[in-house]
Amino acid sequence: MSARETILTRLSRELALACDDHGVITFADARALSHVPDAVGRTLESLCEPAAAPSVRALLAEASSCAVRGWELPLAFGGRPTTVCFAAARNGDETVLVGAIVPDAQVTAVTGLAHSSAELAGMHREAQHHRQELAGRTEALSRTLVELHESNSGLLALHGELDEKNHAIRRDSDVKARVVANVSHEFRTPINSILGITQLLLDRLDGDLTPEQEKQLRYVRTSAECLSVLVNDLLDLARVEAGKTQLRPEKIAVVDLLTSLRGMMRPLVTNERVELVVDTSAVPGLPQLDTDAGKVAQILRNLVSNALKFTTSGEVRVTARSAADGFVSFAVADTGIGIAPEDHARIFEDFIQVDSEQQRRVRGTGLGLSLSRKLAQVLGGRLTVASRLGEGSVFTLEIPAVHEEVREMVAIEQKAEHLDPARTPVLVLEDDRKTLFLYERYLSRSGFQVLPARTTEEARAVLRRTKPAAIVFDVMLEGETTWQLVEEIKKNPDTADIPLMVVTVVDRSEKARAVGADEFWLKPVDGERLIRKLADLARRGPMTKVLVIDDDEAARYLIRRLLEGTDYKVIETGDAAEGVELARALHPHVILLDFVLDNATAFDVIDGLKSHPDTRHIPIVIQTSKRLDGDERARLSTEASSILSKAHLSREVAIGRIRDALVAAGVATVTPVARPAHQSDNAPLAGADR
Ligand code: ADP
Repeated sequence: MSARETILTRLSRELALACDDHGVITFADARALSHVPDAVGRTLESLCEPAAAPSVRALLAEASSCAVRGWELPLAFGGRPTTVCFAAARNGDETVLVGAIVPDAQVTAVTGLAHSSAELAGMHREAQHHRQELAGRTEALSRTLVELHESNSGLLALHGELDEKNHAIRRDSDVKARVVANVSHEFRTPINSILGITQLLLDRLDGDLTPEQEKQLRYVRTSAECLSVLVNDLLDLARVEAGKTQLRPEKIAVVDLLTSLRGMMRPLVTNERVELVVDTSAVPGLPQLDTDAGKVAQILRNLVSNALKFTTSGEVRVTARSAADGFVSFAVADTGIGIAPEDHARIFEDFIQVDSEQQRRVRGTGLGLSLSRKLAQVLGGRLTVASRLGEGSVFTLEIPAVHEEVREMVAIEQKAEHLDPARTPVLVLEDDRKTLFLYERYLSRSGFQVLPARTTEEARAVLRRTKPAAIVFDVMLEGETTWQLVEEIKKNPDTADIPLMVVTVVDRSEKARAVGADEFWLKPVDGERLIRKLADLARRGPMTKVLVIDDDEAARYLIRRLLEGTDYKVIETGDAAEGVELARALHPHVILLDFVLDNATAFDVIDGLKSHPDTRHIPIVIQTSKRLDGDERARLSTEASSILSKAHLSREVAIGRIRDALVAAGVATVTPVARPAHQSDNAPLAGADR
């Protein structure tokens, strides 16, 4: 090999080989020989890594039929793994291969690439797997979503239906309540007539009766009595169902309740084989009741009357005992026919009577227990039965000794007894306890303290005790007496400046304003708005009281009108002596005094005021239409704050002068309003030139 060839061989990466059909190398060019000197005679396979043998065979097989390009084989050149990229073609009975050695870096890169691509493929497969999983999940999710959506629409539909039903029920129950109430009233009148007239006839006031007539009349009377009971029960039931029963709580000892029950029920014991026992032995330990005793008695009467009806021998026993959580439990136990378990729930339904021989013998409406159970609920308690057929029954009424509304009311009243300095007191007159609770709940959350009053009398009592920052009057049931109270409050100088708000169901805004209410609202009241308004009203704080002493009614009227809508509250009198008295009683912030009064002068009044420590320092503004002489002016300059000319009186001037007087007396710190143009007529006394 020439030197040039040697260099070429070293530089070139190309090599050429030829193999026979057995893969034995029959020719190797100089470059191939420079890498593998003993190449000729060896198989191509033997130059490769063992793992690459199949690849060599495949290459040779493919090259026997067509030309091959770019086939990489890992060969071992001088013990060094070398990658050679072959092109091969068939030539007669041999295969000629031309290879190019792939540089190491390229191999690494390719290997790297292969790795990366393998990795990528792995990642891709993984991603694919994730994607599939995700798709699966998405599908499941969208299925769930669809299901949810369906459930939701179902729920919505159900909700709508329920709403509709609710409305319908309410409508129905309203209609029912109205119809029942009306019909019952309509029934009552003729029934009462029948009862009255049959009694008249039975008393033989219209002549004697034959025994047959008497028998017939007694039938009529008995039927009328039945009807009367039915109508009364229906009426009661309608009232309870419509939520119209009024709770009339009173304090009553259990023993008194039971004693009167015994008195009322004894005449009903007509069967001498049955004894009515009202057991008061456990009573001393019982708490006093503060609930609607009338309703408790009504329930117990019904239970005892039932027990007597369904007991042919033995006893009916009424007991009372103390139960947990401040409850009192009344039991009416009998030794009567008893009630089968399947009827325990039914008997509390309207018009349900259990068929029995005894049932056919007695009268009843089938409404008593239904009404009793509802009344028990109104009382915050419950009515239950325990009974076995043929063994008698025990009906148990459990009620809180103190009704919840009473408890809440007491709590509010107790809170109101002590003014909370951190809260703004608001007097609320409302005869409905529930609404009063609502006020309390709303207002107490917002820094107000409710001083509750359920009657005008209670409201007066509160006002005597304290001065609230605002008053809310709910005048629904109180009628005229409330309006009178509004008027009274607005006329009384002590309370006139308390902002007063009237809330009611009918539009009486004119009336409300006429009697001096500051606000008039129609129900229903929006709680948040109420709080904002009250805060606003209460913030105004007490008004500045201005006492006007002037014998001229027109002048007083003028001042009243001028100060209307301002923070000044006018108290007035035409009499000098009364003016002094009023000043002592009401402590006005400022006095507007007429210079010439009917039977006195301003100096008499001033003397009266200065003679008493309570009124000595009240600033006085002299009001006059008279031109004052030098002496008068000199005296007034020491004793009055300023002079207000009646001739040029305007709102600004009046307010300005009052403020000046208040500021001078240290009562107010407000800046006086801008002086109007005709200042000279109303200049402050000090420094005045007249
Ligand atoms: P009624 O006016 O018919 O007594 P109630 O609603 O008071 O109506 O009672 C419903 C039914 O419950 C009665 O008709 C009766 O069948 C059954 N019942 C009530 N109290 C008793 C009792 N103490 N013993 C047996 N059955 C009773």
